[in-house]
Amino acid sequence: MLDIIQIPVLIDNYIYLLHDTVSGETAAVDPALAELVLAVLKQRGWQLTTILNTHHHGDHVGGNVKLKRHTGCQIIGAKADSHRIPAIDRAVSEGDLITLGSHSAQVLETSGHTSGHIVYYFAEDNALFCGDTLFVMGCGRLFEGSAEQLWQSLQKLKTLPVETRVYCAHEYSQSNGRFALTVEPDNIALQEKMTVINQLRANGLPTVPSTIGDELATNPFFRADSPTLRTIAKTPVEVFTTLRRLKDSF
Ligand code: ZN
Ligand code: FE
Repeated sequence: MLDIIQIPVLIDNYIYLLHDTVSGETAAVDPALAELVLAVLKQRGWQLTTILNTHHHGDHVGGNVKLKRHTGCQIIGAKADSHRIPAIDRAVSEGDLITLGSHSAQVLETSGHTSGHIVYYFAEDNALFCGDTLFVMGCGRLFEGSAEQLWQSLQKLKTLPVETRVYCAHEYSQSNGRFALTVEPDNIALQEKMTVINQLRANGLPTVPSTIGDELATNPFFRADSPTLRTIAKTPVEVFTTLRRLKDSF
């Protein structure tokens, strides 16, 4: 079994702890900070062996150095970002496999939010850790890449099995959903998803993970090539570019 623990930190970030119950190996995905991670590890009696970083932003790597000092864990990040991921030990690129006990994840390069962004796909565990590339009903802002790049990156994620759980790094679902409803007001799946999400948030609960299937049905950035959104611009990339621009000022 792969235990997955979700730790809400800062304003709206999520850190994930992945624990292989057989080997005892434990990974932290995008540790924004160290203290709370160390506290949860201690409480569970887990030893941190690995950090998986999706990109170099401070709210994803802020805990790297302190966690490594306290645990001696190995830090894995993108080759393209190896100069700016603090204390990186192993630089990975598209197609590389990383393991956690008997579990393994494939590295996919998903530039757009940043030029070196990667995601970790645990195929057998149906789990995708996608950082700031894909959010529930949204996607990352374009800080270093083009809309075309992020659109191509999302194409890779769209081909994953529909039951894949999407563990993104931020709780942005409610505002993403409000925006999505402005561009697809008649999308029933979207309306239903928003009802569920509003309920969860009203109870202070996380709306993450989503699934690839849910995102295919509700996420306008996944759906830029769908008939309802094709009216916005000529090509899917142009639709995507327009949606990203509209959302930036929403
Ligand atoms: Zn970021
Ligand atoms: Fe972030």
